Amino acid sequence: MPPRPYRLGRSLTGLGLFATRPIKKKMRIAEYRGRRLGIDAALKAEKSGNRYLYEVNSKITIDGAKHGNLARYFNHSCNPNCDTFIRNKRVFIRTLRNIKPEEELTYDYGRDYLKNVIGLENCLCSRCRKRRKKMAAEARAKRARKAKRLANAAAKGKTKKSKTKKKAVKKDTKKRGTKR
Ligand SMILES: [Zn+2]
Repeated sequence: MPPRPYRLGRSLTGLGLFATRPIKKKMRIAEYRGRRLGIDAALKAEKSGNRYLYEVNSKITIDGAKHGNLARYFNHSCNPNCDTFIRNKRVFIRTLRNIKPEEELTYDYGRDYLKNVIGLENCLCSRCRKRRKKMAAEARAKRARKAKRLANAAAKGKTKKSKTKKKAVKKDTKKRGTKR
C-alpha cells in the first residue's frame, strides 16, 4: 500500500479521517487491524462497551480498539464514500468513488449499529443532517403557515365583531328613535 492519503482530524463526532489528496475510486486504503477474538471474548468485549468490534464471520471478531488501528477512526455515514470488504479473513476499507482532498472518509456501519449504538435519530452523517435540516425547515414553514391562518382568522373575527357592534349601535339608535 502506498503512503496513506488521509490524516486524522476533528470531525463532528470526535475524530475522523480526512483525505489529504485526491483518492481514486476502488482504492484499498486501510486494513481494520486488531486482536482476533473468538465468540466468548467478542461477547465479553461487547458487554464491556467496546465499540470497535468488527465481526469477520460467526467465529472471528476483530477488536480494533487499540490505537495502532487507524481504521477505527473511519466514521459511519448513511451515504458513505468507502466500504469494507473481507479477504482471507482480513478486513479492508476501499473507496467507493473518487474522493476530493479534505473530504471525510466514511463507511456504512450497518443498520444494526445505527439502530442500537448510534440511534437512528442521532446520526450526524451529512445525509442525516441534511434530512433533519430539511424537516426542521418544513416544520418551521408549517408553523408559519398556521400562525398566518390564525392571524387571518383573528382579523376576520375582529371585522365581524365590529360589524355586529355597528349593527347593535344602529339598533339602539332605532330603538331610541322609536322611543322618542
Ligand atoms: Zn446518517
